Amino acid sequence: MQNGHAEAVYDGFSSSQLFNQGVCYTYDDVIFHPGHIFFAAHEVDLTCNVTKNIKLRVPIVSSPMDTVTEAEMAITMASLGGMGFIHYNNTAEEQLAQVIKAKSHTPGFIVTPAVAGPADPVSKLHELKNTRGFSSVCVTDTGALGGKLLGIVTTRDIDFVNDRLTPLSEVMTTDLITAPEGTTPEEAAAALKKAKKNKLPIVNAAGELVGLATRGYFKDARSFPAPGAPSVDAAGQLRVGAAVGTRDSDKERVKLLFEVGKVDAVILDSSQGDSTYQVAMIKHIKASHPGLDVIAGNVVTGAQARRLIEAGADGLRVGMGSGSICTTQEVCAVGRGQATAVYHVSRVANQLGCPIIADGGIQNSGHITKALALGASAVMCGSLFAGTTEAPGEYFMLNGQRVKKYRGMGSLEAMAKGSETRYHSDTQSLKIAQGVSGAVKDKGSVRRTVPFLAQAVKQGFQDLGANSITMAREMLYNGAMRMEARTNAAQAEGNVHDMVAYEKRPW
Ligand code: 5GP
Repeated sequence: MQNGHAEAVYDGFSSSQLFNQGVCYTYDDVIFHPGHIFFAAHEVDLTCNVTKNIKLRVPIVSSPMDTVTEAEMAITMASLGGMGFIHYNNTAEEQLAQVIKAKSHTPGFIVTPAVAGPADPVSKLHELKNTRGFSSVCVTDTGALGGKLLGIVTTRDIDFVNDRLTPLSEVMTTDLITAPEGTTPEEAAAALKKAKKNKLPIVNAAGELVGLATRGYFKDARSFPAPGAPSVDAAGQLRVGAAVGTRDSDKERVKLLFEVGKVDAVILDSSQGDSTYQVAMIKHIKASHPGLDVIAGNVVTGAQARRLIEAGADGLRVGMGSGSICTTQEVCAVGRGQATAVYHVSRVANQLGCPIIADGGIQNSGHITKALALGASAVMCGSLFAGTTEAPGEYFMLNGQRVKKYRGMGSLEAMAKGSETRYHSDTQSLKIAQGVSGAVKDKGSVRRTVPFLAQAVKQGFQDLGANSITMAREMLYNGAMRMEARTNAAQAEGNVHDMVAYEKRPW
C-alpha cells in the first residue's frame, strides 16, 4: 500500500474511537500521528469542493463579516485561489455593488483607488496617507470612481503647500498618461515602465476613471509569493460569494445578487442553522434559482446536517461558539468543541455527498490542516484575515500598535447596524449579544498570508502521509489516520517553551 499503512502496527486512536468518548475537543486538543511520506510537499493537491459545484485550488475562504469581507477581500481571496463571502450588514443595493465590483475586477489592478473631488482640500491626502497609506489621489469631477478624470495629486505636489485647505484642483498634475479600459495588467506594467510614472489611471471612452494601475502594486507583487491560478467561473470572472438571511426580504436580495450580480454562491448566515426558516429558504432558492449554490448552517451535529442537506444544501458551514469574537457558548450554553463538530458533521455530510466548511477558531496553519484532516473541504477565517490590508475599515493606533477594528456579527455594535437576524433576535426588543467588538493588529496583506498558509498546510499533509484532501478523507474513514488527545502538559510541550526571549515568525 502506497502510504505504508497496510503492514503498520497501529497505536493511537482512529477518528471514531477518539471522537466518541463523550468529550468534545477543539483543534489544540487533538494531535495527529505522522504517516508515511512518499511525495514532495509541493505535490500535495489541496483542491477542494467548497460547495457541490464550486471547486477551489486553495481550501481557504474569508468570512462574511463586516470587518472581514467586502469587495477588496473577496477579489484578493479569489485571485489567490480561495474565495471570499461578502457580508450582508448593509442594504441589498450596497451588497450588490460589492459583488459587482468583485465579479468585474481584473486581478493585477488596484481594487479601491483613492479618489477625491477638485474642491477637496490637500489635507484629504494627508488623511488618506495616515489611514490607508496612500501617497496619491486621483481627482475626478464627482470625487468618486466613475467620474471624469481631472488630474492626480501626489504627496510631492503638496510638500510645500502650507495651507491645508488649498483645493486639490490648484495643485493637481493634469498632464497624465492614461490607459484605455480593457488594458491587461502586463500592458499596464509595461506602460508604467516606459513612461517612468508611478500611477496609470485606466479610463473609458468618455474619459471616466474606471481603474488604476500602480508601480507599487507591481513592485509588491514581486515581494509576495506567486498567487497561482485564481478562482474563476465559466466566464472567467472571479468567484464571489455573499451572505444572506432567511427573511422574506432576503428572497429579493438573493434574486438581485444572483440575477444582476452573478454571485456564485450564497451563505444562509445563522449561528444556529437547524431551523424551519433555513429549510424553507434552501428549498426556495433551489427551486427559483437553478445554478446558484446554497451553503447552509451553522451546524455542529450530524442530525442538523442531515436536515439541511436533505432540504437541498450544496454546502454546510460548521461551528458554533468557536469563533474568536464569539460568546454563544457562554451566553446560550449550546455549541460544540470545533474539532469534534467538524468530525461528526463531516462524517454525515460525506455520506450524503455534501462538502463542509470548518468555520471559526482557525488561528494558524496547523488548525487548517486539522480541520481538513477531520473531513472539512475548506476552512472559513475571520480573525486570521481581520486587520489585513484587504479587510474593510481603516487602521488606527491603539496602545502604540497599528490596529483595525474586528467585531462579531452578534456584537451589540454590529447588531445595531442590522446583523441581528443571524441570531434570530430581529423581533426581540431586548438584544442579547453573542459576540464582542474590538481590534486586531495590522497583519499586512493576505497576498502574503494565504500562499504561506497553503504551503504550510501542504507540509502538514506531507507529514500526515496524505497527498491530497481526497486521500486524507480515505485515511480518516478507513482508520489509517491515527490521532490522540493532548493533555495540557502535552500542549504546552508542543508550543515553544523554556525560552528567555524569542520571536515567533511563521514565515
Ligand atoms: P474566527 O475566524 O474569528 O475565529 O471566527 C469567525 C467566525 O465566527 C465567523 O465566520 C462566524 O461563523 C462566527 N461569528 C462571527 N461573528 C460572531 C458573533 O458575534 N457571535 C458568534 N457566536 N459567532 C460569530
